[in-house]
Amino acid sequence: MPLTIPVVWSDECLLHEPGGEVWIGRPIPGDEVPERVRRIREVLEAAGAPVVDARAHPDGALLAVHDERLVEFLRTAWEEWEAAGYPADQGQDRVVPYIFPHPDLVGTLEAIVPVSPAARTGFFSFDTMTPVGPGTWRAVRAAADCALTACDLVLEGAAVAYACTRPPGHHVTREAYGGSCYLNNAAIAAARLRANSHARVAILDIDAHHGNGAQSIFADRDDVFTASVHVDPEAGWFPHFLGTARESGAGNLNIPLAPRTGDEGWVAAVARAADATRTVGADALVVALGVDAAAVDPESPLEVSRDGFREGGRLLGNLGLPTVVVQEGGYDLAAIGGLVLASLEGIDEGLHA
Ligand SMILES: [Zn+2]
Repeated sequence: MPLTIPVVWSDECLLHEPGGEVWIGRPIPGDEVPERVRRIREVLEAAGAPVVDARAHPDGALLAVHDERLVEFLRTAWEEWEAAGYPADQGQDRVVPYIFPHPDLVGTLEAIVPVSPAARTGFFSFDTMTPVGPGTWRAVRAAADCALTACDLVLEGAAVAYACTRPPGHHVTREAYGGSCYLNNAAIAAARLRANSHARVAILDIDAHHGNGAQSIFADRDDVFTASVHVDPEAGWFPHFLGTARESGAGNLNIPLAPRTGDEGWVAAVARAADATRTVGADALVVALGVDAAAVDPESPLEVSRDGFREGGRLLGNLGLPTVVVQEGGYDLAAIGGLVLASLEGIDEGLHA
């Protein structure tokens, strides 16, 4: 049977070239590359899925979850960096931070937004792995439009729609970006569904890393429930500073998993998150679909198989909710398309079970 889930696409998402990243002070190649979404699209199209072009949406949809200062920073960061002469004078052709407003540096004071573009980056970025280049803003903005267009399709009656998008977004908070993410596409989608007749939306994040962005953005709201299944930060994994089960409460559920958890434990965790979504009475679902929990993925040790992703998808589809699926992580180029296909087929099967 062909896959009937619409795949929302924008060529602009290919324009972001991180050009590597800085890890422990060293430049490394980085694996959040344009080829990721090309590979996914290729596999989904071969499976019969219809491809839909992303429609442009106004900034208001971004500002529902992000501070205007972050959006303006990202929009202008590259031009200001270039105008300040860092590429020509210093040989640095990506916007990167070097100083950060540690909570104890500023204490009870309100941190100044720095005048220096080099320092300003550290006001908004929480790591050194998320560079901004000449094409970044257009790609980031298009990624949000992909997520919003997937929402439109669902609001117009599709049971499920998939945003085939990059860069990913689930680590971004209201005003801070990082983890190869710039705007929180899943959070933007959830806010969109909330603003359009859905009373309670759930974001279920199955990327291998904690969905800290949505947890933070919706922490004080009871109309968006957030759940995340991820490798345990306390076992030494990104985002390191948060993501424990102790942070769970009425509006958030964190299920950290040990390295080498494998299919059985991972699927059981997805089932728990799905049950919690049912319990809170969500009437629409956003799936933050990272496939980096896969055994072949270089970015996590969770060791989930393609069958595991299909089974996890089934559990999400079983919720029977209008569903927007937003692409997050997944870095093995040979496997990424098949993993996404298995997840979407699982969701489809679950919806029609
Ligand atoms: Zn991830």
